[in-house]
Amino acid sequence: MTDEKKQPEKIADDVVVSMDYTLRVDDEVVDSSQGGEPIEFLQGHGNIIPGLEKELHDMAVGESKDVVVSAADGYGEIDPAAVIDVPRSEFPPSITLEPGVTLQVQDNEGNVMLAQIREVGAETVKLDFNHPLAGKDLHFNVKIVGLRNATDEELAHGHVHSGGHAH
Ligand code: ZN
Repeated sequence: MTDEKKQPEKIADDVVVSMDYTLRVDDEVVDSSQGGEPIEFLQGHGNIIPGLEKELHDMAVGESKDVVVSAADGYGEIDPAAVIDVPRSEFPPSITLEPGVTLQVQDNEGNVMLAQIREVGAETVKLDFNHPLAGKDLHFNVKIVGLRNATDEELAHGHVHSGGHAH
C-alpha cells in the first residue's frame, strides 16, 4: 500500500469542490442548491463560470462568501445580433407563438439552442437567442461544504465523476 494522498485544505486547481450556492439576479433567487444536493465540480477546468471560479481560490471548508460576477464575466452582454426575425412559415402549426415562450430551435448542424419569443408579427417572429441571464450581474452566495482530491480519470476528463456516473 502506498500512502493516501492528503486531502486538500483549500481550493486550488484540480481540487473537487462541493458547494452550496444561491444565485440572485435583480434581487430574485434564480437558482439555488438549497433543498437539494450541493454542486460538485473540478476547480480550474471551467466547469463553472470563470468569474465565480477565480473568486473561490484558497477558500476552505465551512467558509462562505458573497461574490458578484459582472455580466461580462458571467453569461455575457446582450448581443443585438442574437435577436433575429424568422418567417412564421418556418414554425410548425402545433407551436404556440406568444411573446415570452421559450422554444428549442435546431440549427443546420443539428445543435439545439433555446430561444425566447420577443414579438409575434403578421409575417415574422422575433426570436432572442441570448442567454436569459445575459446582460445581468450575478450575485452568488456560496458555502464550501467539501473538498477532495480528484481521481486521475477525473483530471483526464476535466470534470467530476460522482453518483456512479462515468463517461
Ligand atoms: Zn468523464
